[in-house]
Amino acid sequence: MKYISTRGTIKPIDFCDAVMMGLATDGGLILPESIPDCKDRLAEFSCLSYQELCFEIMKLYISDIPDDELKALVDKSYATFDHPDIAPLLKTSSCYILEMFHGPTLAFKDLALQFLGNLFEHILQGSDKQLNILAATSGDTGSAAIHGVRGKDKIKIFVLHPYKKVSPLQEKQMTTVLDDNVFNIAINGTFDDAQRIIKETFADIDFKTKHHLGAVNSVNWARVLAQIVYYFYASLAVCKEENADAVNITVPTGNFGNIFAGYLACQMGAPINKLVLATNENDILSRFMQSGTYALADVQPSLSPSMDIQVASNFERYLYYQCNQDSEKLLALMNEFKETGSITPSGDIDSIFAAGAANAADTKAIIKTVYEDDGYILDPHTAVGVHVAQQHQTEVPMICMATADPAKFPDAVNSAIGIEARHPILDALKDLPSRCETLDAENQIIQSYLTSNL
Ligand SMILES: *Cc1c(COP(=O)(O)O)cnc(C)c1O
Repeated sequence: MKYISTRGTIKPIDFCDAVMMGLATDGGLILPESIPDCKDRLAEFSCLSYQELCFEIMKLYISDIPDDELKALVDKSYATFDHPDIAPLLKTSSCYILEMFHGPTLAFKDLALQFLGNLFEHILQGSDKQLNILAATSGDTGSAAIHGVRGKDKIKIFVLHPYKKVSPLQEKQMTTVLDDNVFNIAINGTFDDAQRIIKETFADIDFKTKHHLGAVNSVNWARVLAQIVYYFYASLAVCKEENADAVNITVPTGNFGNIFAGYLACQMGAPINKLVLATNENDILSRFMQSGTYALADVQPSLSPSMDIQVASNFERYLYYQCNQDSEKLLALMNEFKETGSITPSGDIDSIFAAGAANAADTKAIIKTVYEDDGYILDPHTAVGVHVAQQHQTEVPMICMATADPAKFPDAVNSAIGIEARHPILDALKDLPSRCETLDAENQIIQSYLTSNL
């Protein structure tokens, strides 16, 4: 399999090069040249363990890693999970729940970032290269990325978070990792400042090349690939259980990364009838799915902060397909969006999608209802999904993706049901020593910190 850019001006590259490139050098997003069809392999797939299925699906997209090495990478990546099913399914009175938070940082990003960390290590092995990962985080991405690469040879990671503006637990999950290759930087500023510094540092091509900077945000193709797996895993398991032909899946959405993997799984032949996109008050994506217009609004703080996003970086990948893979048409749309903050692409939105949004009151109400009906505690991101799922109930079985352990967001849970959600991993953080540098939000200051620690 070769990889191309949505903007159409890089020559086709192999998987490992695509992973190292992150964002395409022409400013586009990387995609496979074609999407493999697995419709006639579903019976075989439905009998595999999570790791076996992962290997079979990844193999279709990776031609430059030998089978035995890919298998070892997959096994190593999911050995850090605390449940034998990796992403276990359970049933409540209204839907199935796919628990995706059994990795080391208790959020679904571990499913992709444990793999990406091992993949980087594999690619760098035996080369004289080294990689310096640079990331900005408002919470979950930073800790999952740090836990994906901690202690690894030839890799350093620098994570910027806004000083005192991530939750205390999320801060602890990052700053208590004391491995020599991990650098936490709290900046005196906002998440947007952190993101701007990273963007401008990457845009300085000389600096980027000289210092071998790499990215781990959800534009990296390997993250999307790892996420395709659980759409097959969950849809096949529930079809078997319910004796059904297809399922609906609700996905709490921020950057359009998770649900874009679901879109690809559908194209590959996973038995999925509808993908229900769920947002919080930051509803640019649900408005797009309902109206066809993608229009910017201000970011509002919500109970589900990992979805407080307006410009969804992975959306360009979907638009590319909606433009029938016409890079010129896509580029015109992206430019129009940059200038006006609003676009209405021609062509129908894929009928696979449905959408809805939940506000703070909806989120708290559904946490309460599910707790009363089933004794099960939803995290606020998952709750957004379950609320929206209820508006899309049909006779088709519904799976809701549970993206975080409720103990990661104890305040939201507490405000809904008056119970303090806890997890032993998080309880243990309290007493651990931490390390973090606090710096001013200026490119110059951050870049000189980087160069003196590379
Ligand atoms: C990142 C995150 C999301 C959003 O995922 P996207 O891929 O950005 O759509 C949802 N829930 C939690 C808990 C997250 O950490």
